[in-house]
Amino acid sequence: MNNEVFVTLKACTDYNDDKVLATLSQACELAGFPQVKGKTVLLKPNILNASAPERCTTTHPVVLRAAIRYVRSQGAARILVGDAPGWQPQDMAGSKTGLYQVVQEEGAEWADFSRGRPVDVAQGKLIRRFTLAEAVGEAEVIISLPKFKTHGLMYFTGALKNMFGLIPGLQKSAFHMRFPDRSDFALMLNDLQLAAPTHFAIMDGIMAMEGKGPNSGTPKHLGLIMASRSVYAMDWVASGLIGYKPEDIPYLGLAVQDLRYGFSPDTIRLNGDPLEQFRPQHFELVKVLHENDIIRAHVPDWLHRILKNLLVPRPVFIEKKCIHCAGCVKICPAKALTFVNGRKAPDIDYEACIRCYCCDEVCPEKAIELKKFLWGRGRR
Ligand code: SF4
Ligand code: SF4
Repeated sequence: MNNEVFVTLKACTDYNDDKVLATLSQACELAGFPQVKGKTVLLKPNILNASAPERCTTTHPVVLRAAIRYVRSQGAARILVGDAPGWQPQDMAGSKTGLYQVVQEEGAEWADFSRGRPVDVAQGKLIRRFTLAEAVGEAEVIISLPKFKTHGLMYFTGALKNMFGLIPGLQKSAFHMRFPDRSDFALMLNDLQLAAPTHFAIMDGIMAMEGKGPNSGTPKHLGLIMASRSVYAMDWVASGLIGYKPEDIPYLGLAVQDLRYGFSPDTIRLNGDPLEQFRPQHFELVKVLHENDIIRAHVPDWLHRILKNLLVPRPVFIEKKCIHCAGCVKICPAKALTFVNGRKAPDIDYEACIRCYCCDEVCPEKAIELKKFLWGRGRR
């Protein structure tokens, strides 16, 4: 079949530099790495926030180093590396994650993701224009370097969700406000693929994150590096591997229903090491919620708001863990958080909260839990 797309899985037990480079190189070759000779290549790791690599919130620096070396070995003329973290300055988050140092040591270019340029997307279902990091316009080949993680809003974050970081800084929050429903947010992510197609993806699944991802979960050893020319195919295989029905991942489910996104799971071909070798006995998932869609279809807006308040998990702030860094307050797109009475943890207005979980994504102290059926002021 002409349009078949390979998803390559290769075993790699740890973050040894040589081992990762050898495994990543094999995976890229088996997955059909694109022609980069003489081209400008943008590598987009996950730099969600300023976290040490051991927390498994961000792409491991050893994987970035291997990716830079491999891309250079294929003849790339320029290698740009960048991401727009949730609210912290890019350089600060880059340093803490160790990714900035790797870029300097390897002689790649640290691209400034704080400034953007408009990019039109004529075929977009929801969005006709994005503002994307300037490096996107310079790059001839774009490569996603995701971390294998669960995700509160999208249930799974891999190669495609990683590309949300092409949108500079706090502008990302505006999209959460504009598209508070999961399915609309997922469509926006799919439209982003039309605006800036990702040519290749290399997933860091050596140490993954289970449970309360993408920031407050638990590291989990999978010993896996994945590669593919399709972000959809990679995430379809990866989410299925840990126990999701891939079509339950909102952006995957919507992509298979709409030809404009050019994805069909029937075209996926696996190669490398056998998939079953990596299937964990247990992987703690984010529970998939279907009730919101059902509610939306059958009840009036006022009742939907009340039911959503009750049924969709809400953030609860744990006072004793909070260090009053204000990251959650700054990123909250709904302006639902305020500091009052000299308390460390913020107060939350649940009527205003749109359940986007950006606050949980940026909290450096895991001081936010997502809970259903809670009355009171949202602090404990
Ligand atoms: S409080 Fe948290 S979940 Fe609610 S809107 Fe603000 S950032 Fe999103
Ligand atoms: S809850 Fe987390 S992000 Fe918010 S102020 Fe406290 S430590 Fe910072």
